[in-house]
Amino acid sequence: MRILSIDEAKQISRGKTTVIITGVTGQDGSLMADYLLKNTSYELFGGARRLSVANHENIEHLANENRFHCINFDLTDAHSIEKVISQLKPDYFINFAAQSFVKSSWDFPAQTWDTNTKGIIHILESIHLHSRYCRFYNAGSSEEFGNVEYAPQDEKHPLRPRSPYGASKAAARQLVKVYRDSYGLYAIQGWLFNHEGTRRGDEFVTRKITKAVARIQQEFKFGIKRITPVELGNLNVKRDWSDAEDCVDAVWRMLNQEQYNKNFTTYRPYPMCDLKEYVVASGESHTIKEFVEEAFLIAGFKGHWEGEGEDEKYIWDSLSYPDDILVQVNPSFYRPAEIEDLRGNTKSIMYDLGWNPKTSFKELVKKMVLKDIS
Ligand code: NAP
Repeated sequence: MRILSIDEAKQISRGKTTVIITGVTGQDGSLMADYLLKNTSYELFGGARRLSVANHENIEHLANENRFHCINFDLTDAHSIEKVISQLKPDYFINFAAQSFVKSSWDFPAQTWDTNTKGIIHILESIHLHSRYCRFYNAGSSEEFGNVEYAPQDEKHPLRPRSPYGASKAAARQLVKVYRDSYGLYAIQGWLFNHEGTRRGDEFVTRKITKAVARIQQEFKFGIKRITPVELGNLNVKRDWSDAEDCVDAVWRMLNQEQYNKNFTTYRPYPMCDLKEYVVASGESHTIKEFVEEAFLIAGFKGHWEGEGEDEKYIWDSLSYPDDILVQVNPSFYRPAEIEDLRGNTKSIMYDLGWNPKTSFKELVKKMVLKDIS
């Protein structure tokens, strides 16, 4: 996809309601672009960073969309962020760009901080200086809750992150609040619990499982004698998985609260009033093991667990392949500090903004497995 210069983008955006979506090559950014093309008539600018080999797979289908354009965007470069915001003066700025992989945040803690926290200062400061009526959403995370005190976690749950990633998002949350309170910006950071889909990155555990299921099914089909198991980390942690398509709808509702919430009083003029940040989740949590069982079952593999801890294995209940291991543990995938159970309380967003997740856990797993098989 061609990347426009800022001058070209400025020409196109002139006089139009303009939305910037960063992280557009990722799961949520690309889904948000699809959602807004379908549900609005706004002009969309997807921010993608320059890489040696472009990874535009998630936005290839938008190449001929008149209202979708790509611009260069890197969260670590304050000057280019200021240029984008000062020239396009967006009406909405939806930030899905991030160092988004929790495990990597222990390997690259400073880069995680520079991207997920300092990057947010660059955006907030530019919005404050150049486009103060722009509505800003930054993707928050259930990882901010970390060492949880109670379940399900709601908007009042304290922030007790357990990873550099969680800490970077929790700090960004404080900055968003400071700018909201200080300058009356429409700036919010809703908490997104884990959300998945067919555009999920390969390194995330759910996609790793569904891709492995598809591979193993192929191996079986082509008569390969010994199946290569998929290696996973901690199998017993519980996560609240929802569909990423449901999440982008929740984000848009958070950015337009007066349209969905009849009790909302206008946010202008300053100072701020009713703006809220919401938890977005399915309200159910499942272990990694449950995800594994469900995913393999969809592809026709029934199995059982044997062993404990690092020796735990998922064995295929097959007469012809009785000892075949589908899943085994590799401790190198363990996180240095784990969160055992995350489950979100979505009462507030359901009540205020009328949001409801449409896809169940089973439907989500099925959708991912079938896509990878196809
Ligand atoms: P994703 O698929 O990994 O996408 C992340 C995007 O950020 C990619 O487009 C990536 O670009 C971009 N990016 C990374 N570093 C950047 C930088 N320095 N400058 C500009 N862009 C950069 O993540 P996602 O699942 O869509 O998540 C979207 C947001 O929601 C993230 O902030 C994530 O932390 C947050 N979140 C996600 C979940 C979840 O379960 N999915 C849960 C809670 C919060 P490249 O393609 O070039 O790497």
